[in-house]
Amino acid sequence: MSRGLLAGREGVEEVRSRTDIVSVISEYVSLRKAGKNFVGLCPFHQERTPSFTVSPDRQMFYCFGCGKGGDVFSFLMMKENLTFGEALRVLADRAGVKLSRATAETGSAQKVQEMRKALEWAEEKFRSVLGSDLGKECMEYLRSRGLTQEVISRFRLGYAPPFWDFLLRAAHHDGISEEALVDAGLLTRRSEGGLYDRFRDRVIFPIWDGMGRVIGFAGRVLKEGEPKYLNSPDTALFHKGRHWYALHLAREGIRRTGRAVVMEGYMDVIACHQYGLDNAVGGMGTALTADQARALFLLGGEVVLAYDSDAAGMQAAERAITVFREAGGRVKVASFDEGKDPDEYIRSKGKEAFERQLEEARLDIMFLYGKYARECGGDRVAIKEKIVPVLASLESKVEMGEFVREIASAMGVLEGDLRADVESYQKKNAKTRYEYKKSENRNTTQHGMTLRPGMAGNSAIRTGSGIGRNTTDSVPIKSNTASVKGSLSGQVAGREKAEEGLVRALLEEPDLAVEVREWVAPEMVKDPVCRRTLEIIFEYVGKVVQNKSRERPGIKAETVLNFVNDSIDDEEARARIAGLLVGEELPGPRERLVKDYVKTIKKARSLELEAELKRCEASQDVERQALLLKEIQELRRGLG
Ligand SMILES: [Zn+2]
Repeated sequence: MSRGLLAGREGVEEVRSRTDIVSVISEYVSLRKAGKNFVGLCPFHQERTPSFTVSPDRQMFYCFGCGKGGDVFSFLMMKENLTFGEALRVLADRAGVKLSRATAETGSAQKVQEMRKALEWAEEKFRSVLGSDLGKECMEYLRSRGLTQEVISRFRLGYAPPFWDFLLRAAHHDGISEEALVDAGLLTRRSEGGLYDRFRDRVIFPIWDGMGRVIGFAGRVLKEGEPKYLNSPDTALFHKGRHWYALHLAREGIRRTGRAVVMEGYMDVIACHQYGLDNAVGGMGTALTADQARALFLLGGEVVLAYDSDAAGMQAAERAITVFREAGGRVKVASFDEGKDPDEYIRSKGKEAFERQLEEARLDIMFLYGKYARECGGDRVAIKEKIVPVLASLESKVEMGEFVREIASAMGVLEGDLRADVESYQKKNAKTRYEYKKSENRNTTQHGMTLRPGMAGNSAIRTGSGIGRNTTDSVPIKSNTASVKGSLSGQVAGREKAEEGLVRALLEEPDLAVEVREWVAPEMVKDPVCRRTLEIIFEYVGKVVQNKSRERPGIKAETVLNFVNDSIDDEEARARIAGLLVGEELPGPRERLVKDYVKTIKKARSLELEAELKRCEASQDVERQALLLKEIQELRRGLG
């Protein structure tokens, strides 16, 4: 991609120098300090113990679990599915740096850019209709639901008038591409040809991504009609299972209060925010996914479901609990008695009363128990049949023990009896449970990767050895030194370690490269990422040394690292470099280490050439033999 071309242009360095990777990533992941670094749960794969590491010194991140890594640009590109140009613009806005238009936009895919433009344009159109005579009835409806003008503006609500060609005609007038409106899900193609507006005579709720950019819409019927809510279809930008409604408006509140409130409806969320509960987010009217659940857990703090108190709401809460549990965490469930919806509840009783309900929210398993107890009308055998599988599915023995105790006492049965039932259920279902888990895991791994196809899984560490330690994937190492005597695997491992060590030492102390480039040529390095990185470092150092006569030119590690990051266009390669730098400290002074590393690399290279020489002798390729001999002799001289 065009990262290399864009980087180095006006503004990029300024954005970089004014951006702190820790504070950017903290908006997605709750990080805690661990030595020089920060650690947290990885946003790119599912895990329970943090292997996601952020280094403030290097301004890099790396996950020892899945091998994702890079700088702050890489993080946003992966997490928010941005191009380099888009990530640059986001960070520039954040840092208050003004970019020239050209710098920010060259890197964006044309199609996506057109879609964004169309979505923003449509959002504005719907808003202006709501404010016009045409939107009068819709405005009255919103007011009747208790919405203030301020909150209508904050949530950018709009109105789609009851015409089949409102957007279509306005688009012609304003020069917006029809194709982009189709891609964005705003226009629908008739099977017999021609286009029409998807949203007609509906209240429009724009839906944004985590950064507040509009990606789709939900439309609620104003009068009668089905469906009550109509969403944009999934598009290149909008995936219902990946976003929370109003997350960008709630993120700050969630962090401040240590609590995320999950609601079912758009109106519920808006009501909460209107009353000052700015930690509320909403689902998309479709089943929650593990992706969504994980995104909330990553923010830290507790998650409280505030669903409708009718049967449908309770059923939805039960399904949500399963999803959150599968995503590796637990939630609480608030209840609003007197048959009230959260929306009505906060309007009639106010913020304090609502917050009390949140405080008193029950843990998910206790909520389920209460639900089953009501449904079974006190029939203890029936209740047990429902709650035992739930208890048996808990992974933590401690947690299970606590719930068994509490539920046994609520049911009026002996704790030991309930525990025995749970354990015998587990035994009976051990096999099926395992299979269920296995297929679940496979699914969540796929869902967990919010990246482009082909980017998923452990591919990022496939060529590495010293990094990605936590992975259980074996690392196949191809080698053509197979005929050489001695501990082959030891040599291979030693060589890779030396190559990675050399790259790391030079990235940390680039001045050393002035000498090192006299000792070792990048061609001697086997690992492609290390070789390429070395080339780039040497290229940079070469330029500096040309201009200066001093032996120690005082090159800044930061500058070289930025140069390397910008020169490498491959995401996986950048991730590996991040992994090198974020890993454990090098074992000793770099000046001494680089000498050892160079020696190891040369020795390995020489063995490799000797093996090839043997093969040439067999095939009687005399010319090649002479070349190899010469190279081997040179290497040996260097080793002496
Ligand atoms: Zn990870």
